[in-house]
Amino acid sequence: MNRVRLLVLNAALGPLDYRLPEGVAALPGSVVVAPLGPRKVMGIVWDEGRLPGEEIAFERLRPIVEVLPVPPLPAPLRRLIEWTADYYCAPLASVARMALASGGALGGPATMTEYRLSGGLPERMTAQRLAAIEALEGEQGTMRELAGIAGVSEGVLRGLVNQGVIEPVTVNIDRPYPPADPDFHQPDLSEAQAAVAGTLVEAVRAQEFAPFLLDGVTGSGKTETYFEPVAAAIRAGRQVLVLLPEIALTENFLARFEARFGAKPVLWHSSLKSTERRRAWRAIADGTAQVVVGARSALFLPYANLGLIVVDEAHEISFKQDDGVRYNARDVAVMRARFEGLPVVLASATPALESLHMAEIGVYTKLDLPARYGGASLPAVRLVNLTEEKPGSQRWLAGPLIDALRERLDKGEQSLLFLNRRGYAPLTLCRNCGHRFKCPSCSAWLVEHRLSARLACHHCGFETRVPDSCPECGESDCLVACGPGVERIAAEVAELFPEARLAVATSDTLNTPDKAAEFIAMAEGKAIDIIIGTQLVTKGFHFPELTLVGVVDADLGLEGGDLRAGERTFSQIAQVAGRAGRGAKPGEVLIQTRHPDAPVIAALANGDRDAFYAAETEGRRDAGAPPFGRWAAIILSSEDEKEAREAAQRLGDVRPRLADVQILGPAPAPLSLLRGRYRYRFLVNARRSANLQAMLRDWIGAVNFAPGVRVGIDVDPYSFV
Ligand code: ADP
Ligand code: ZN
Repeated sequence: MNRVRLLVLNAALGPLDYRLPEGVAALPGSVVVAPLGPRKVMGIVWDEGRLPGEEIAFERLRPIVEVLPVPPLPAPLRRLIEWTADYYCAPLASVARMALASGGALGGPATMTEYRLSGGLPERMTAQRLAAIEALEGEQGTMRELAGIAGVSEGVLRGLVNQGVIEPVTVNIDRPYPPADPDFHQPDLSEAQAAVAGTLVEAVRAQEFAPFLLDGVTGSGKTETYFEPVAAAIRAGRQVLVLLPEIALTENFLARFEARFGAKPVLWHSSLKSTERRRAWRAIADGTAQVVVGARSALFLPYANLGLIVVDEAHEISFKQDDGVRYNARDVAVMRARFEGLPVVLASATPALESLHMAEIGVYTKLDLPARYGGASLPAVRLVNLTEEKPGSQRWLAGPLIDALRERLDKGEQSLLFLNRRGYAPLTLCRNCGHRFKCPSCSAWLVEHRLSARLACHHCGFETRVPDSCPECGESDCLVACGPGVERIAAEVAELFPEARLAVATSDTLNTPDKAAEFIAMAEGKAIDIIIGTQLVTKGFHFPELTLVGVVDADLGLEGGDLRAGERTFSQIAQVAGRAGRGAKPGEVLIQTRHPDAPVIAALANGDRDAFYAAETEGRRDAGAPPFGRWAAIILSSEDEKEAREAAQRLGDVRPRLADVQILGPAPAPLSLLRGRYRYRFLVNARRSANLQAMLRDWIGAVNFAPGVRVGIDVDPYSFV
């Protein structure tokens, strides 16, 4: 066949037909460049008959320009791309782009220049040069990397290059990664761990679709346990993908991986340098990347030879992407395993209700690790009733929590305070005129960040200096901070315990892998007494000396109550509680609340997860909510308020009337202005019998919107703002 249909990587274009020049072959999945008018477009040769389109006479087809020198995207990945686009109502091109996430990887082999000492000496030796030469002994890297290592400017190093002391070396960007050794360090597994590991290793050998829910309490050693099937896959020459919810977690994971396998895994996340991204992409596509650890975007890469997928902390809502293609990596991971015919492991101490339900109805196999590793016990939980134990004015820590902190300080043990709010205060106002600081492009208050002396919008990233005077009335020294963020809690702790060493752990302070690594090293090395953190500290960390966890405001997550608020609060607090008492010393958790009788708070106090989940499940069943029904959100937005409102009305006017679908809205979104766009929402609730996606496509396809209107479809939404 010498005609091909391309999935063109441009969402505005449909599939296009081309002809292959004489002597050129291109299998399905091949990545090609084709002419489009005067321009060129990139596309993927798609399987015959799977993309709709008219047949155009062969004579009228233009030839493609070139087939790029990368392996064709494998068939299971092509099926995954189709499934994802269909399920999430997203353009095929947008999903396919995620598979080709490294433009630089698509060219031929490439080299780069690195530098190292040549062994020669400079004509004139200075103290600075001597120090640099000593620091660079045995090192090789780019100019910038070496300057960092030597602690001198690149100019100093260039001087040394000119004198022949440092020499350039040409390296292959795609040099292979050091191999992981499945037998590097074999841990002694507990009996329970060994049983679970055995089942998973069997599944890796079988290489059939097999979804597992690894339900293990915090500290049970889920990572050590799933490392065994990872080792089995490496031995069998197959690739492994481990998805982590947060890049700040990877440092901790990398260290443990290296201890077990003697080499680092291949990293994939959005802040890789383009050369690293290219190297990783090519090694993934040619099968030499053995184990890939990544954020959700690693899911769509073209693995040559995948043998196992692990989703760690699978309950995390950060697996849900909230812009572009709004997919849930946890669910797509299961679909990928299905198309590839592989085992997939969802690991969590607080699985999503949806995942537990799948286990209950027998679709997933549930594997349990009911006890902590090494005999550590789960922490004792105590509620602090804030309506009785009132913190002082403009204070947030009640007496019992302060006493518990003091006790830990006296014993030289660590504490962790959890408040899921970045910054110093969520609202700033003028005492004189009442002016409130608002984001210019969102309907949201600006959050004060005292560490950086800025007011910031947490929705769009807008930032401004904290002004000296009120912009409304001109009065100075009149700004008041309302409510607490972690920085304010840190200030309160510093006042209470001036001698304590504090660390604020949020996405603002741990925003690079280096800073995260430094924080972990300090916490492990007992250089921190009290950690004050957001949801970032709820997961993954293992600090043996940490014996107290204080939840500053357990009610925060229940405010505004969307249907997942209870579940989210439960898992967040259970996870952060799980950081306590992981070593030899027992842990304690204090939960500050104004609603000690709320079901979720009571369940946390009693450690009764099953009863809480059972009640939540019944509530979901009654509401026809997931997993018993489906939801989708539709968000219409425009820079013009009237245009957005009218678009919403028009869509509302032609809503389908179906027995198994209920459509709520339109209503102004809770976040009615975001990044300068006015927003209206519909919420669709469909029974499982309904074909939700087909209904959405027909309905939305029936309206011609003004060019300024954007229509977002969010299937299985997690955000309701
Ligand atoms: P989880 O992810 O289930 O909360 P981790 O995997 O973090 O638990 O394990 C808790 C701690 O126990 C870690 O420090 C881990 O290295 C250690 N651990 C777990 N299992 C073993 C084992 N079989 N041998 C040695 N150490 C283990
Ligand atoms: Zn904003």
